[in-house]
Amino acid sequence: MLDADFFRRWMTTAAASVGREAERLTALDSAIGDADHGSNLQRGFTAVATALEKETPDTPGGVLILAGQQLISTVGGASGPLYGTLLRRTGKALGAAAEVGEGELATALRAGVDAVMTLGGAAPGDKTMIDALVPAVDALGTGFAAARAAAEEGAAATIPLRARKGRASYLGERSIGHQDPGATSSALLIAALAETAEA
Ligand code: ADP
Ligand code: MG
Ligand code: MG
Repeated sequence: MLDADFFRRWMTTAAASVGREAERLTALDSAIGDADHGSNLQRGFTAVATALEKETPDTPGGVLILAGQQLISTVGGASGPLYGTLLRRTGKALGAAAEVGEGELATALRAGVDAVMTLGGAAPGDKTMIDALVPAVDALGTGFAAARAAAEEGAAATIPLRARKGRASYLGERSIGHQDPGATSSALLIAALAETAEA
């Protein structure tokens, strides 16, 4: 079973990973966006880590709802409300349980990803974070390692796609040939989950 501490470690592992990879995320965003994805998420996840140190929610749902709120209130870019919604909606779906199973997490994360699609209007193949998140959730039933691999494959598979949502869509055909920054950071988030489960 996964308790509040597991979810806290997932968020702090994600924060560390975003910190390490911020330059790469910003470089990807400079090719097809406005070169701020790394700094946006670094600001957001630093706030998440700080908030989780101050308040210590005692349920998995409470941890993710607090983390999502921090992302929404500190990240100015499109990714803030989208990732904030992902975590908040997943947290809400987990409810007030002190511990949740892997199957419940998979179901809750599915609700979170659906909420991101509703908010942003993106579908798989639009070259967004959805292209890493949907395969990850599909694979999560098989285990954390499978979800991680699926997210990484999904992020890499955005390279030949033409962006249909977000800033990259303004580039039209010129968005082809570059990996989507948000799909890349989504793969980091899922990798952090797998790392937390392995630790
Ligand atoms: P901004 O584009 O406002 O500068 P970021 O650079 O932080 O925000 O985030 C860009 C990423 O957000 C994109 O690479 C993409 O994955 C994701 N994104 C943008 N718009 C959408 C959307 N409508 N639905 C899903 N994801 C989106
Ligand atoms: Mg940007
Ligand atoms: Mg921006």
